[in-house]
Amino acid sequence: MPPVAACDVAVIGAGAAGLAAARHLRREGHSVVVFERESQIGGIWVYTNNTEPEPLGVDPTRPVVHSSLYASLRTNLPREAMGFREYPFAANKAVQRDPRRFPGHREVLEYLKDYASEFGISELVRFETEVSRVWRRGSGKWEVRSRKKNGNEEHVDEAFDAVVVCNGHYSEPRIAHIPGVDRWPGKQIHSHNYRVPEPFQNKIVVLIGSSASAVDISREIASVANEVHIASWSNSNEECAALPGYDNVWLRPMIESANEDGTISFPHGVKISADIILHCTGYKYYFPFLETEGIVTVDDNRVGPLYKHVFPPSLAPWLSFVGLPWKVAPFPQFELQCEWIAGILSGQILLPSEKEMMKDVEAFYDSMHASGIPKRYTHNMSGYQFEYNDWIATQCGTPKTEEWRRKMYHATSLNRAARPESYREEWEDEDLVLQAYQDFSKQMSCKQVS
Ligand SMILES: Cc1cc2nc3c(=O)[nH]c(=O)nc-3n(C[C@H](O)[C@H](O)[C@H](O)COP(=O)(O)OP(=O)(O)OC[C@H]3O[C@@H](n4cnc5c(N)ncnc54)[C@H](O)[C@@H]3O)c2cc1C
Repeated sequence: MPPVAACDVAVIGAGAAGLAAARHLRREGHSVVVFERESQIGGIWVYTNNTEPEPLGVDPTRPVVHSSLYASLRTNLPREAMGFREYPFAANKAVQRDPRRFPGHREVLEYLKDYASEFGISELVRFETEVSRVWRRGSGKWEVRSRKKNGNEEHVDEAFDAVVVCNGHYSEPRIAHIPGVDRWPGKQIHSHNYRVPEPFQNKIVVLIGSSASAVDISREIASVANEVHIASWSNSNEECAALPGYDNVWLRPMIESANEDGTISFPHGVKISADIILHCTGYKYYFPFLETEGIVTVDDNRVGPLYKHVFPPSLAPWLSFVGLPWKVAPFPQFELQCEWIAGILSGQILLPSEKEMMKDVEAFYDSMHASGIPKRYTHNMSGYQFEYNDWIATQCGTPKTEEWRRKMYHATSLNRAARPESYREEWEDEDLVLQAYQDFSKQMSCKQVS
């Protein structure tokens, strides 16, 4: 069916989410401009040796380095489950490509470039163009103010029917609160500014966190540091266990305080001297350009109110957010969210009324509250991403999640927990890999399958 309406849409960001948005909006017949402040597509997957001058990344006026990748980073999802549904992330055996199941970061960037080229997306992107302000005019249109980076030109204001926000949420560090840390004489850094282990040579490091990055970075640092103490709420309060396989890594409960004499205090009167605190404590949602007259807020890392994590009910469908959920396989979810947004903007798919959407959002918040789940976990989709994806797929009339992808995601989570050091090399879901490649080979659009 031809689209009912074609809109002028601004997409902010040309990372994986922005690319998927551009692809699906254009497929639906909309006119798309993608604003990207960097000089290439790929977002977080554009690795750089550069770090920010302020290693904790808390000063809002600091020059921002977008990418948070470290040099050795390999994916924490297998490529088959990680890739877009309509453009498989199949192993590419061409020279200079990384065919591993859990490839290094460069391979992901190459894949995103392939995706952009397959669907002719780069021509829609205005590179080195930063969006500084997005606001609604009286007419209901959205005004987008942008400026060429490093150029002498003034900013430009342009009107769009709709804005899709795809600016990523792994660049604005969240810091652990540590009593006394202001007077502690050591050095602090957030993993956003971690690239290589060498600066940790011969140091005593307290690393806070338990995420996939915390696991990778603690092991990497242990190869050069004197001691690594991993402090986390998820480590038992009683325990101070040595990490199996290491003689210089300890698992500790959360820090009690940092002290003026350079020590760090843990429960039960334990104190250690330390040189560096490394915060692997995640990131904050941040939309410095967005003005919605208080309609959309970020409160304790809840972006809301948003219907199904995408649409603010009173501004729907003219403002939308792609990629807010975490603890998910992001790329396939981006695709579905973007297909949904594109179909709603063209009038092919209907949203409930504003009142009904608001009721749904409130019911969701109430259920979180009743279960004692903190606000900051609003977009944590652990345990229900596939149910959510399938709900959107049904709205779009598109196939639900492939059974192999769902099973592979779960198998990888279990394998990662059981073998944090070696899950990228040893697995037991070979049958699912075979099923995935059978599926890929059916997709005519996939030129990579060897
Ligand atoms: C350390 C780390 C490891 C990860 N590992 C994996 C993994 O193994 N597998 C996986 O699937 N996912 C992983 N992820 C998640 C990853 O973030 C997603 O896969 C995905 O790439 C995010 O895409 P995005 O488009 O939402 O954001 P980004 O990739 O961050 O892209 C946002 C883009 O918006 C641009 N932008 C921002 N503000 C503006 C502005 N004002 N004006 C113009 N442009 C702007 C930025 O320059 C950037 O290009 C990891 C994340 C991190 C931090």
